[in-house]
Amino acid sequence: KAVRKAVIAGNWKMNKTSAEAKELITAIAPLVKDAGCDVVACVPYVDIATAIEAAKGTNIKIGAENCHWAVSGAFTGEISAEMLKACGVEYVITGHSERRTYFGDTDVTVQKRTRAALDAGLTVIVCVGEYLEQREQGITDELVAMQTKIALGGVTEEELKRIIIAYEPVWAIGTGKTATAEQANEVCAVIRATVKSLYGEKAAEGITVQYGGSMNAGNAAELLAQPDVDGGLIGGASLKPNDFAAIVDAAT
Ligand code: PEP
Repeated sequence: KAVRKAVIAGNWKMNKTSAEAKELITAIAPLVKDAGCDVVACVPYVDIATAIEAAKGTNIKIGAENCHWAVSGAFTGEISAEMLKACGVEYVITGHSERRTYFGDTDVTVQKRTRAALDAGLTVIVCVGEYLEQREQGITDELVAMQTKIALGGVTEEELKRIIIAYEPVWAIGTGKTATAEQANEVCAVIRATVKSLYGEKAAEGITVQYGGSMNAGNAAELLAQPDVDGGLIGGASLKPNDFAAIVDAAT
């Protein structure tokens, strides 16, 4: 764990106008300036320019919440990874469960988005995780390993250095129902073992595996203390400067 830098990333989802984004970044910045982990805010497309401007001179890096798999073309309403990179974006989320559930993302499209993001030079936060029903069926480990394998299809060992995998049990996202630290660690370890099977021990030891799902100021320390949990993807709490900063502190 010591070899890996923790990454705490906010996922703002569909929240904040660009004026509010400026306010939020400005409020968070002084609270996280001494962070011992990487701090990222993944923001709506229309907030990217103001967020990058507001984050200048701070240790906050800006990410997007999704990207299309083509470089450009007839895809009305979509945004490419190249376009994000050109704006100064450094990170992008792919495969968030809300994209999979409401917008038809599949393991295959997640792989394509991830490919495009890597090609554009971005660091990718790839989300995987099971629905409650799948956990109850006892197929969590198998499912998450498969999601991970497909997302990483075609990713080289060198490119893997720009991949973060976020384990997000769908039943824990936005529900206030957090996975126990043991549950989180167990599945993060499965993800690491999957990476090991594909790329070997060194790559597996180096990859950052986050937990996400109702992580908050109260439960972050216990989750982040787990040996295979290297950070967090934070939804609701990332909109509250003090709560987000407390999570960053817990990771430091
Ligand atoms: C998320 O959207 O990735 C997430 C983890 O949300 P929340 O923290 O609100 O559960």
